[in-house]
Amino acid sequence: MLCPKCSVPLVVVERNDIELDWCPECEGFWFDESEIEILKYKLGINHKVINPMELDYVRTDENIYKCPRCNAPMGKVEVQGIILDKCIKNHGIWFDKSELSELFNKFSESEEGSGTVGFLGEVFKK
Ligand SMILES: [Zn+2]
Ligand SMILES: [Zn+2]
Repeated sequence: MLCPKCSVPLVVVERNDIELDWCPECEGFWFDESEIEILKYKLGINHKVINPMELDYVRTDENIYKCPRCNAPMGKVEVQGIILDKCIKNHGIWFDKSELSELFNKFSESEEGSGTVGFLGEVFKK
């Protein structure tokens, strides 16, 4: 798979049994649909924050990128005020490096989120 933003091959990284595709160029992450399922199972919760497949699409002026799996243009979804790129066929979600750290910060502000942050911190830590 190629990075939707820089078109360089993504590198597979494994953390806590979750496989992520990471771009060595822009340091963004591709989160596959199946990996999101594993993440949800591991966290044992099912709130919307980690159930991005159920989020509604939003309109933005941001550039449209293509899904690394099917090459179809991805849609924009909003999580906690952060806009992410999601495959319209639900193949997965793209996180920019900055979006990921922003999301961590938002999560850690809430009680519910702190456990999630701890786990995700482990997963994403390089
Ligand atoms: Zn990239
Ligand atoms: Zn796709």
